[in-house]
Amino acid sequence: MTGARAGLILDRDGVINADTGFVHRIEDCQFVPGIFDLLRAARARNFAIAVATNQSGIGRGYFTEGDFHRLMEEIGHVVAAQAGTVFDAVYFCPDHPTEGVGVYRRESDWRKPQPGMMRQAVDELGLDPSKSWAVGDKMRDLEAAAGAGIAHRVLFDEAATAIRRTGDHWIVPKLIDIVDLLDG
Ligand SMILES: [Mg+2]
Repeated sequence: MTGARAGLILDRDGVINADTGFVHRIEDCQFVPGIFDLLRAARARNFAIAVATNQSGIGRGYFTEGDFHRLMEEIGHVVAAQAGTVFDAVYFCPDHPTEGVGVYRRESDWRKPQPGMMRQAVDELGLDPSKSWAVGDKMRDLEAAAGAGIAHRVLFDEAATAIRRTGDHWIVPKLIDIVDLLDG
């Protein structure tokens, strides 16, 4: 069963903050240009906003789940101040099938490109997948979204020269470009 609400599901590293490698401290968090405008625009259009992020740095033992939650809380404060909104939900997968330590070494349906986190977002937030959007900087983000039936998928690629449609998804060079796409 699916809900009625449109959702925007964002990858974190490389979309919300620059992916400088296993980011886990606010002082290492460089926000991607346009992210606050995108979040503000999504909220103005009454989208539910969620984060779905692979965080194998936890499973690898580089940082803890507590560190992750602390950083997300700090990111949330910045988002509230800069974009006037909050994340409705945050999903993360700490596991890695070969590099994880202890309990974290496992296959997980939540680890993108598997669709578990996206399905959870659809269920918990009451999303209509046909009206919902996913944004990532890797194809695995889009594969995960496709697996959950998220109809609109956007690859953020700063090296792209223009907004374009390719295959079954969009490619945008700037996050702000996504606002136009949301308006169809
Ligand atoms: Mg990423």
